[in-house]
Amino acid sequence: MNKAKHWFMLCALLVFAGTAFSQNKGKLQIYFVDVEGGQATLFVTPAGESLLIDTGWPGGNGRDADRIVAAATKAGLSKIDYVLITHFHVDHVGGVPQLAARIPIGTFIDHGPNREASDTSTEQGYEAYQKLLATGKYQHIVAKPGDTLPIKGFSATVISADGNLIDHPLPGGGEENSYCKTSETRAADQSENARSLGILITFGKLRILDLGDLTWDKEMQLMCPVNRLGHVNILVVSHHGLFQSSSPALVDAIHPQVAIMDNGATKGGSKATLETFKSVPGLEALWQLHYSEEGGSSLNTQDALIANPQGPDHGYDLELTASQDGDFSVLNPRTGVSKFYSAK
Ligand SMILES: [Zn+2]
Repeated sequence: MNKAKHWFMLCALLVFAGTAFSQNKGKLQIYFVDVEGGQATLFVTPAGESLLIDTGWPGGNGRDADRIVAAATKAGLSKIDYVLITHFHVDHVGGVPQLAARIPIGTFIDHGPNREASDTSTEQGYEAYQKLLATGKYQHIVAKPGDTLPIKGFSATVISADGNLIDHPLPGGGEENSYCKTSETRAADQSENARSLGILITFGKLRILDLGDLTWDKEMQLMCPVNRLGHVNILVVSHHGLFQSSSPALVDAIHPQVAIMDNGATKGGSKATLETFKSVPGLEALWQLHYSEEGGSSLNTQDALIANPQGPDHGYDLELTASQDGDFSVLNPRTGVSKFYSAK
């Protein structure tokens, strides 16, 4: 390529990047990073503040931390303002040290002490995180149900933390929940999952729910007999789509328009959960980070809505862009195709 051509390409690229930036002005960006069956979801508000929910797994030469930093870079960030750790299982807190070594972080948010100290990998992940907090370089918030997180650009209300739940319906909730009848009662989960720090984000007309790995028994407590949440537009499917979560009492009652599942090829995406999502009232689309091998061709969502299909794994993410007026779209970077939704 000659010099003039080079300059032309560079200018075209800058114009394109500038256009992409101005188009996203005033919008909320969400990156569902593929951490192979863990969680790492990056929110960037129109005010330019960022919230990362969970950090994926440790090890692998920082594979998950690298993927998170790649998403942050794509979003134009040089720092992550808030990192929220839903609970201390290794697929959520494990990536913290590697992430902190790669990008500045402002504040960590969690539910308080690890409640599963008997589990070796959980305790190791928790201790590595505590060591980082002890450096004094970071702010630290222990969140409780009902708290509002101090992030500018949207409102984030804590729904669950350390096994506790909001004790009253939020605006938009308060109706009797008819789906409690169709949800079996299950024994209380004793693990860190049930301690998950879960939040509801309100951005203009949109309501977005992420409850971490909150378990079925806690969902029933939260949603029965009265639906304390009301309708949700965008659901980050709890617990990677494992069958220990996603009771009808939760998912049918909140009847999300769009659900996004952070499953891996062989973790999450349980048959029972995929079946549940086949009949959620009003659901326009289920997106998945991976094709679930357990789900097979009949239960997985359509190929266009899967970031990483069967075959070589490229670690593609999913990217959601939302406006205050309730319009949003989800991009599958693998195909380059995005789908548009309007708040209902
Ligand atoms: Zn998990």
